[in-house]
Amino acid sequence: MTATELPTYADVTAAAQRLAGHAHRTPVITSRTVDEDLGAQVFFKCENLQRMGAFKFRGAFNALSRFTPEQRAAGVVAFSSGNHAQAVALSARLLGIPATIVMPKDAPAAKVAATQGYGGQVVFYDRYTEDREQIGRDLAQRHGLTLIPPYDHPDVIAGQGTAVKELLEETGPLDALFVPLGGGGLLSGSALAARALAPDCKVYGVEPEAGNDGQQSLRRGEIVRIDTPKTIADGAQTQYLGQHTFAIIRRDVDDILTASDAELVECMGFMASRMKLVVEPTGCLGYAAARAQRESLRGLRVGIVVSGGNVDLPRFCELLGG
Ligand SMILES: *Cc1c(COP(=O)(O)O)cnc(C)c1O
Repeated sequence: MTATELPTYADVTAAAQRLAGHAHRTPVITSRTVDEDLGAQVFFKCENLQRMGAFKFRGAFNALSRFTPEQRAAGVVAFSSGNHAQAVALSARLLGIPATIVMPKDAPAAKVAATQGYGGQVVFYDRYTEDREQIGRDLAQRHGLTLIPPYDHPDVIAGQGTAVKELLEETGPLDALFVPLGGGGLLSGSALAARALAPDCKVYGVEPEAGNDGQQSLRRGEIVRIDTPKTIADGAQTQYLGQHTFAIIRRDVDDILTASDAELVECMGFMASRMKLVVEPTGCLGYAAARAQRESLRGLRVGIVVSGGNVDLPRFCELLGG
């Protein structure tokens, strides 16, 4: 990967212009209880309140906005059972592009319905016997569709970076920033924005304790692959970082931390009862890590990206009641 293939902060600002009027400028929320608890000044960037319920709308809309007329006419294909599927389906509908989404047969009915509700055509596969990437590539080839991956794509990374751009424009420089980490689209985009707008800010990625491939990759200096981790943070069950995302993370991110499922549940409960925010388990990663790091955050200005809020209510209640 040469540096010229990697997106830069200029790509993040270009993405912000494409997203203007289409994505929500999500609120930045503060809480005196949190500030007292951490002994810091904490700013939550609430992407759980983004369109379709997660920051992924930013990257998908940015990527689809850059299609040529030929690409628009032929359509887009994506493979995902989660927020990326809904982000691509909604962006495609807004831009008048046909969307095909490859999902596992056993994907939650609510997620299938949401994707179809946005006008996406769902193609099912068997996650135990079939390779979704292969299916996606076959569809792309056969029908001339453009494949948009969930994180390892310069336009996706640039789009995801617009959330932290907005955050820092609103708060001014921060001392530390905590960002949930799956395949690294959100973290690498956030790091591009932070390096440009707050060069001294420490940038931390946070992944589930059960799946710390990113942490291992950063320490070893190469992408480490793991089995699909067992965790309630289903938005961060990725097995490895991308080529583009890892190159940026290695260069611009200070460290990668982890949070346990129990810590995520505690944060979910706190944010629901005290801050009136419904946050999915993956969306709690940043706050959970900041709480664990409180000793080193005293007196600092801290940013936390709340990445998404898509969790079925019965599941939400089950996790909090258990
Ligand atoms: C996809 C997702 C993540 C992880 O983002 P990456 O770009 O894959 O690192 C975190 N939180 C939520 C809610 C997500 O949907």
